Amino acid sequence: MLTKQEIESVFTETGVMKEGHFKLKSGKHSPVYFNAKAIQQYPMKLNKFIDAWLEMLKEKVDINKIDRVVGPAEGGIALAYSLAEKIGKDRNRECLMAYTSKDKETGMMQLRKNFDLPSNENIVVVEDVITTGGSVQQTIDSLSEKNANIIAVCLMVDRTGGAVKFEGENIALYTTEAITYESDNCPLCNQNLPLTAMSNNAKK
Ligand SMILES: [Zn+2]
Repeated sequence: MLTKQEIESVFTETGVMKEGHFKLKSGKHSPVYFNAKAIQQYPMKLNKFIDAWLEMLKEKVDINKIDRVVGPAEGGIALAYSLAEKIGKDRNRECLMAYTSKDKETGMMQLRKNFDLPSNENIVVVEDVITTGGSVQQTIDSLSEKNANIIAVCLMVDRTGGAVKFEGENIALYTTEAITYESDNCPLCNQNLPLTAMSNNAKK
C-alpha cells in the first residue's frame, strides 16, 4: 500500500502536483495546482498507482467478476487501459477496457460508438482527478444506458475531499480539498510570493 507521502512524491516528480502561488482561471488564488494528466508521461510511475488500485480492489470486490474498466477521455484512458491490463494479467483472463468522450451535440461524456458493450457488464470506472465529479457521473450514466453494473470507481485525486460519492465501491488514492483564496484576501499575496497564472482544468 502506498503512503500519502509516497503518493505526493510521485505527484511532485511527475508534475501532477505543483506547490506555490497560482492564479486559477476562476481568478482565485491557490497554494497548489493539479495537472493530473501529467501522470500519463510516466508509465512506470503510473504503474505504482495501478498496483495500489488492484490491491485495494481485491480487498473490496471479486476481481474475477470485473468485465471491463472504463475511463473518461482524456485523463482516464491510459489509467483504464493500464488497470484493465493489470487485472487481466493477475487473473490470467482478459479484462476489457473502453472510454467515454464528450459528445459534440450534448456536451456529455458518452461511451464511444467504437465499443460494443453487451448488457449487464460489471464495470470499474477510473479517472485521474475529480473536482465536481461531473465527467465520472456522466460516464456512469452513459454505461447505465447499457444496463452496466458499476462495481467500483477508482480515482487518483479526489479534490472534493470525499464529498462526492458514486455508485459501487469508491476507491480514491489521494483525497484533498481544493484550497482557494479570493485575490483581494490571499495570504500568499500578503507574503509577496510571485504569482503564476494557470489555465485551470475545466470542472470535471
Ligand atoms: Zn494570492
